[in-house]
Formats: sequence, C-alpha cells, structure tokens
Amino acid sequence: MTVSALDKLQIDESSENSDDEGIVLLAKKPKMAETIAPVPKALPSVGHWSTGLLAYLKDPSSYPDSVIMHNEEFVVIKDKYPKSTLHLLIMPRQSIQNPSQLLKGHLDLVINMEKLASTLAAQWMARDTTINFGSVPDPKSSQVLIGFHAIPSMSQLHLHVISNDFNSPSLKSKKHWNSFNSPFFIPPSHIIQKLQKGESITFDKGIYEAYVDGPMKCHRCGTPLSNMPSLKNHIATCSAK
Ligand code: AMP
Repeated sequence: MTVSALDKLQIDESSENSDDEGIVLLAKKPKMAETIAPVPKALPSVGHWSTGLLAYLKDPSSYPDSVIMHNEEFVVIKDKYPKSTLHLLIMPRQSIQNPSQLLKGHLDLVINMEKLASTLAAQWMARDTTINFGSVPDPKSSQVLIGFHAIPSMSQLHLHVISNDFNSPSLKSKKHWNSFNSPFFIPPSHIIQKLQKGESITFDKGIYEAYVDGPMKCHRCGTPLSNMPSLKNHIATCSAK
C-alpha cells in the first residue's frame, strides 16, 4: 500500500521537539551551538520512507528527471507527489534534519535558500526555459508560495516552492491542503528573524498538528470547505484574487 508522506505527519519519527534535545543544546558552549546541530535521539533508519530525499543529495546527477539544479550549496528537486502545478523542494547539501535543527550559524544558508526559491519562482512564472521545470503556470497560478512545514515528515531540511493553483491529482487530503494553507506553512522570513535574534526554532507539535487537522477554507475567498471534492470544485472555479 502506498501512503504519501504528508498522510504520515502524525507518525513523526524524528525527535526535533524532544526535551532531551534541549538539554544537549544548553550543554553546548555558545560558539559550538551557533553551527553544530544537536544530534537527534533517533535518526530514521536508512531505507525508511522518511529518508527518501537523501538519495538526491548523495548523487544528484543520477536523478536528471527529478533534480532541476544543483550546486555546492543546494539540490533542487521536483516533488515526487506534487500538490500543485509547480512543486519544488530546495535542500541544502549539508546535513540538517529539519527546521528545528537550525541555529544562528545557519542564517546565511536560510537567506540563500529563500533567495534561490524566489529566483526559481520568478523564472517559472516568466516561463524561463533555461530550467527544466516540467510545467508551466496554470491560469490559476497567480503566485508561488515559499515555506517550510513546521513539522516535516521527511528527513533533511527542505523548502517548499509551490504554485497557488493547487491543481494536482496528488493533492488528496485535508492534511495536504492545510499543510500549505494554514500557519503550519512557515515562511522563511519567520525563521530568518528568529535566527537573527538568536532564538531557537521550535514548533509545538500539538498546536501545529491541530492546524493540519483543522477545518479547510479557500485560500482565495475564505469559504469554508468540508471535504476534498468540494474543495477541488471550489478552487477550480473561485474567481476571487
Ligand atoms: P514535508 O516533509 O511534509 O515538508 O513534505 C515532504 C515532501 O516530500 C512531500 O511534499 C512529498 O510529496 C515529498 N516526497 C516524499 N517522498 C519523496 C521522494 N522520494 N522524492 C521526492 N519527493 C518526495
């Protein structure tokens, strides 16, 4: 049986919010705590579904259909189960499991991630053919959204770059919808501001999981939508900007 990653948001195998991690952080000398992420209590084992993004990092050239660009700092892939016409994931080459592992020393990395995301979004909107995006804007793609999931299901930090048409057969559940259309979707600016202030990146599991399990509404006009068929019908026809 195939179960998509976001359906597994509640089977969170990582320990990013555990108390033990906090203890490790506090025990570090201030200089080290700027760049060395705490070691998670239990890393998912190799081959586990949640480690599926790591292969692209190891050998990006082996995945020409998925990897749209790579350089020394980042690998950018097309999401395997895209929730919209454009759905990219930007991953740093260095090992960082999730947003909660980000420290002050990662500030430039996150700034560069956001810049790259904005550049790619603009290139896609402009139908730039120098990058093989594999898709062009839908009539409903008025904007490209950029953000992290507060509590990701997949290992390795990844920034979502997703068009706001949400025209995709892989968009199947309330969790999928709310993960991009609720406060669960964290703009990079939020992380950047926190890192600039030297604050830790933590997301309360209970609060953020309640967002993805909460009611759905149209991202354009705010109409409440009770199930996926009505959501899909509504967003295909909603004329609000
Ligand atoms: P999240 O961890 O919730 O931020 O989202 C992980 C994303 O990874 C989802 O949008 C999935 O569709 C996507 N995904 C899951 N497995 C793979 C894979 N093997 N290759 C590419 N994308 C994947």
